Amino acid sequence: MILRDTSCVFPGCTVDARRCDLDHIRPYDDAGPPGQTRPDNLAPLCRRHHRAKTHGRWHYERVDTGDYAWTSPSGRAYVVAHPS
Ligand SMILES: [Zn+2]
Repeated sequence: MILRDTSCVFPGCTVDARRCDLDHIRPYDDAGPPGQTRPDNLAPLCRRHHRAKTHGRWHYERVDTGDYAWTSPSGRAYVVAHPS
C-alpha cells in the first residue's frame, strides 16, 4: 500500500504515505472471513483523515482501477486517481 499509494488517499491530501496509518477500507470484522488485511483492503490515511473517516461521515471504496471513490457527508463524490 505504501508502495502503491505515495500519499494519503483522501481527496487533495498530500501527506506522505510513510507518515500515514493503514486504514481498513471495509471495517475489520473479528468474526469475518480471512484475508481482510489484504492489500486491496488497506489504504494509507493520515491521522486527520483517518479520524474523518472513522468518526465523520466520509466513506470510500477502492474500485477496480485502483482509484478511490469517496463520498462526502453531503453526498458529493470525489475520485482520487491511483498514481500510475
Ligand atoms: Zn490526509
